[in-house]
Amino acid sequence: MLRQDFNRPDIKRRALADHRKKQFADPTYQATEYHHRLNFYATPPTADITLEQFEQWAIDRLKVLAELEACSFRNKSLAETASHMKPLLEKYLLLQPNTSSSSKLFEERQKDHYSHFILRLAFASTEDLRRRFSRVETMLFRLRLNDEGYREKDAFIKDINLDCEQVTEDECNKYRDELAAITGFKKGSEEETWIKVDWERVPDLVESRRVFMRAGKAYVPSKEQSSMVVAEFTKRLDRALELTARALPRLDEDDRLTPILDHLSKNFITPDASYTSSTSSVAGADISARNIDSLSAHFPLCMQNLHRSLRRDAHLKHFGRLQYTLFLKGIGLNLEECLIFWRSAFHKITDDTFNKEYRYNVRHSYGDVGGDSNRRGGGYSPFSCQKILTEHPPGPGEAHGCPYRHFSLENLTALLQGVGITDRSVLNGVKEDKESQKFHMACNRVFEHVHKNEIKKAKEESIMTSAQLETIVHPNEYFKRSYLLKNLGKANGDDIKMEDS
Ligand code: SF4
Repeated sequence: MLRQDFNRPDIKRRALADHRKKQFADPTYQATEYHHRLNFYATPPTADITLEQFEQWAIDRLKVLAELEACSFRNKSLAETASHMKPLLEKYLLLQPNTSSSSKLFEERQKDHYSHFILRLAFASTEDLRRRFSRVETMLFRLRLNDEGYREKDAFIKDINLDCEQVTEDECNKYRDELAAITGFKKGSEEETWIKVDWERVPDLVESRRVFMRAGKAYVPSKEQSSMVVAEFTKRLDRALELTARALPRLDEDDRLTPILDHLSKNFITPDASYTSSTSSVAGADISARNIDSLSAHFPLCMQNLHRSLRRDAHLKHFGRLQYTLFLKGIGLNLEECLIFWRSAFHKITDDTFNKEYRYNVRHSYGDVGGDSNRRGGGYSPFSCQKILTEHPPGPGEAHGCPYRHFSLENLTALLQGVGITDRSVLNGVKEDKESQKFHMACNRVFEHVHKNEIKKAKEESIMTSAQLETIVHPNEYFKRSYLLKNLGKANGDDIKMEDS
């Protein structure tokens, strides 16, 4: 197999490379040893791998990260996430401990090392991608750290140079009672080791009295060291991502890697966030142009906002039309009805203008016109929350995007009140979710408030399984679930069917 060093552009290019581009033009090969299965990814890899490995390893890691992100959207606890992720990690990113007799430790760790750095390149380009990457990589690191054996964890912490001092056995004996008061530490206990750091580095542990304080130093027991290590991991990764972002333009000249990296970052979507019209239709519902106004009561806030703006202005700008058209297509509105809907909604313009400027785009979204692949695939898929939250933020005069993210708090509160959400505790919860950037949580909070009676009934009567009530990560799922819940009473088991989402 042809081996190509992904760090090294071809020879002609290397000769021409200017000295400022040295970082990518002239890597020095360094043999890498992996003493631990945990990795802080401080040193970029330099050995040769094939382009196929480059892509496959990155895709495998991406599957793991996307699933981790889905676990966090669903608010799974650490323990639930760990058990959910176990088989996936074993399949795509297995890392065995030093105590294992496997002969594949080096290969496993090498794949982990390379795939991290490849995705670091793919996700360094925008602040959003950097933040998401850092978040999910931190989740992955935390899972692995928690899973690590006591001795290996201890050895790893010593190696990463956390800029802290090990507390000696003499000191442990000297402060035995004070340390015991913190954790129930007993002399000679193998399970407890202590480090000391300047107390300013662990203010949360000091505040909650989870450390022993002496002479400006905080004595941190091993069980609390994990949170320090995780925080340090995130801090170093964030810094490294900033540096990578600055170096990225120099990669543009490598036409083998740029398309792969581009493709990887575009596919960083939660696996269940993609939506096809076959999973979205609601049997028995009248999905027609004339019924959109009444159906809009079941729309999530992003689509309600588009609908209200459309009714107010008799117009929406390009991205608003695209987001809304694909959503309507996703709820089951057929092309013909969709054209009727847009034509009547744009009532201030002539037929001629509509046909010339808008009709084509609607047909294109449905795959009725456009390139072969679009036609074959039946047009474009409705946007997931992830896509709406992270791509094309709305500018002045635009109504697309996600109000939980893109509106100011005042405007968001006014919009929520405008659609009937006036409960103080819900509005406060939304405010907190927005401040901590948990936009999905805000949306799900509102959903649960609006449908609380129906959800209670569905649970009591076992009409919906817990999988069907999991956190919503797609506007079309919001619609479908809302419609079905509100029509539970009318279903009589026949005309409204609850299918697996
Ligand atoms: Fe729409 Fe998703 Fe935002 Fe809810 S979280 S408003 S469904 S984009």
